[in-house]
Amino acid sequence: MLLNTREHLSPRTPLFALPPVGLGTSKVETLTNYSSRLASQIGVPVGRLINGLILPCCNTGISTIKRGVKMGSAFHLANSFGSVASEWVSALENLTTVNCLDGLTFLPWRNVFEPRSGITSPIKRWCSHCFHEALQDHPVISEHLVWTLGGLQLCPIHLVPLESRCHKCGYKPYAQIHSKHLPGFCSRCMEWLGRPMPRAKVSSTDSSWKYHVWVARSCAQLLNNPELASISSSKRLQAMITTGIDYISNGNLTRFSCLLRRSKSIVGEWRQGHVIPGLEASLHISYVFQLPLESLFSGDTNAWNFSSIQELPFSVRGLDAGRKPPVRRNWAEIEKFLGEISDGKHRKISSFEEAAKTLSIDSGALRAQFPELARQVSGVCYKRRCARAVLKASQVEKAVLELAEIVAGKVLAQGHYPSRRRIQAEMLQQGFRTDRSHTSLIRRAQLRLYDSGKLDNLRQGNKAKSD
Ligand SMILES: [Zn+2]
Ligand SMILES: [Zn+2]
Repeated sequence: MLLNTREHLSPRTPLFALPPVGLGTSKVETLTNYSSRLASQIGVPVGRLINGLILPCCNTGISTIKRGVKMGSAFHLANSFGSVASEWVSALENLTTVNCLDGLTFLPWRNVFEPRSGITSPIKRWCSHCFHEALQDHPVISEHLVWTLGGLQLCPIHLVPLESRCHKCGYKPYAQIHSKHLPGFCSRCMEWLGRPMPRAKVSSTDSSWKYHVWVARSCAQLLNNPELASISSSKRLQAMITTGIDYISNGNLTRFSCLLRRSKSIVGEWRQGHVIPGLEASLHISYVFQLPLESLFSGDTNAWNFSSIQELPFSVRGLDAGRKPPVRRNWAEIEKFLGEISDGKHRKISSFEEAAKTLSIDSGALRAQFPELARQVSGVCYKRRCARAVLKASQVEKAVLELAEIVAGKVLAQGHYPSRRRIQAEMLQQGFRTDRSHTSLIRRAQLRLYDSGKLDNLRQGNKAKSD
C-alpha cells in the first residue's frame, strides 16, 4: 500500500536511513538512483518524494532549475556539483540522517570545475553487463555515477559502449528519473536491461578507441580516489598547465596549444587562470600528455616528468566533431587528369564541377590550385555540352518529323486533307503536344506528302466525288 505523502511524510519526519551503494568507488550510485531506492523503501512514488519532500527543502533561488527538475530535464544536475546537487544532498541528509550523500555526486570535485560548466549528461545511459553482474553478485541494483559523465563513452569496467536505448522497446529515457523508475529496468516496458557479456570482447587499435578507454579509466580512477578531491582545485590545475607549457614546449604556447588542437588564446586564458578547463578539456590534456587525471586536478607537477605525447584522435567528440582529417592529395596526378580532360579525353565529364566531384575535391579548392587548367577544362566542357545539345536537338527533330509524317499519312488515309491543325490534334492523341517550334517540321511533313503525289490522289478522288 502506498503512503499518502501529505499525511505520512513531512520534512520533519526522519526517513529510513538507507545506506548508499558503492561509496568511495567507481561503482558508486547516483544521488537520483539513491532517491529512487529510498522512495521504494518507504513505499511512495519517486515523484512524490522529490516534489513533496526534496524540492520544498531546496532553497535554490533559480526557479528555472527548480522547474527543470520538476519537468525531469534537470535531474542530472542533482548528480553534478552545483547548487541543485548541494541542496538535494542537504535535503536528503536531513531527511535520512545519512551524512555522506555528497559522495553520490560530483560535489567533492566542485573546486576543480567552473561553476557554470556542465559535466553530467541529461540523457540516461547504462552498461547492461554491469546490471547483469550486479544481479548475480549484489542484492542492490544501482545506476553508477560515472555513467552520467558527458565525456564518457565506454563502461570503465567492461570497456563496452554505454547504452541509452531499451533493447526491447527502443525507448530512450531523456531524464535520470521517471515516474516508474526502477534501477536496471526500462521505465516504459519494464524490461530487465541487464545482459551477459558476450564472449568476444569489443576491442580496437583505433586511436579513437584508445582515447575513450583512457577516458573511461581516468573517470573511474577519479571516483576511486575521493580523498584526492579535497586537495584538488582549479588553481592547482592552472599550475599544472603553466608547468606543462614550460616542460613540454619551453614556454611556447603555440606548440602546446597545437598538441591539444586548441586555439592559442584559450590555452593562454587557462594559463592566466581567466578560464578554467572543463572536464572534456582536462581529459584532452590528460590523454595528450598521458597524465593521470587526478595528478592534473591535485597539482602533482612531478607527474610531468613521466609524461609523453599522444596525438589526440580527430574523431574525438566535442572538439572536431564532424571535421575530417586533412587529406593528402597527389597534385601531380590531379593535374595530369585535368590535362587529359582539356586534351579531349574522359568524354563523359561535362563540367569542371563534375571533374572535381570525380576527384572528390571541392571545385573551389581545385580551381584555386590550377586556375589556368580549370579555365581550359571549363572551356572544353562547355563545347562538349553545346555539341551534346545540338545532337540531342537533331535527334528530337528527326523523331518529331517522322511522327508528323506518319500522322499526316494516317489523316490522308482517313480521307481528310492533312492540315497543320489536324496533324497537331492527331499527334496530341498519340501523346505528343506540339508547339510553335514544331510548325516548320509539320510543314516539311506536308511537303514530303505533296512530293510523293499522295495529295494529288486525294484531290482527284474529291473531284470525282463532286462530279
Ligand atoms: Zn559495465
Ligand atoms: Zn523498454
